[in-house]
Amino acid sequence: MEKESGISEYLFSSKRKEEQMLSLKKETMSCQRCPLAKERKNVVFGSGSIYARLMFIGEAPGYDEDIQGAPFVGKAGMLLTKIIEAMGLRREDVYICNVLKCRPSQNRNPLPEEIALCIDHLYRQIEYIRPEVICGLGKFASQTLLDTQTQITRLRGRWHEFRGIKFIPTFHPAYLLRNPSDKKLVWQDMKKIMEKL
Ligand code: URA
Repeated sequence: MEKESGISEYLFSSKRKEEQMLSLKKETMSCQRCPLAKERKNVVFGSGSIYARLMFIGEAPGYDEDIQGAPFVGKAGMLLTKIIEAMGLRREDVYICNVLKCRPSQNRNPLPEEIALCIDHLYRQIEYIRPEVICGLGKFASQTLLDTQTQITRLRGRWHEFRGIKFIPTFHPAYLLRNPSDKKLVWQDMKKIMEKL
């Protein structure tokens, strides 16, 4: 009897999670809160498993992501995929998204007002998925979620916390494409994540 109620509780909570994510996605896909809505080709909501134990959060969609409507599918995305696979995981096992869901033109940095208008989508993604570990990719995601101005070089590789979830910042894969010698530092950070999972 106890076992049965455990199973129905599990089925109920996973159904609820699916419904919550679906309705959040629907809402996000039609968002008109900021001027980026006028310029975008696609909203880039997120991809991967909503049951993921590990979530990667980047900055904002770039050109390729805007065209394809999926996060990290360009050159930096290919490197992120390699990193995930080197950890013994597949992209489908983790959840990948960004702070901003729409592309800032010319890949400029997100503006504080764009972040302020968009961040609730991300907060809800995190709340519904509730991963065990979040990895902040680069300065923007890490500084935004940790609410700090501390430089990424000082934040990375250390455990922090976001709303009770273990949070580790690392360098952004686009930075690694320009600075490949820092890949070894990112790998150190990924090993720390693997120890926790
Ligand atoms: N850079 C990001 O921060 N996010 C993407 O989805 C692609 C590139």
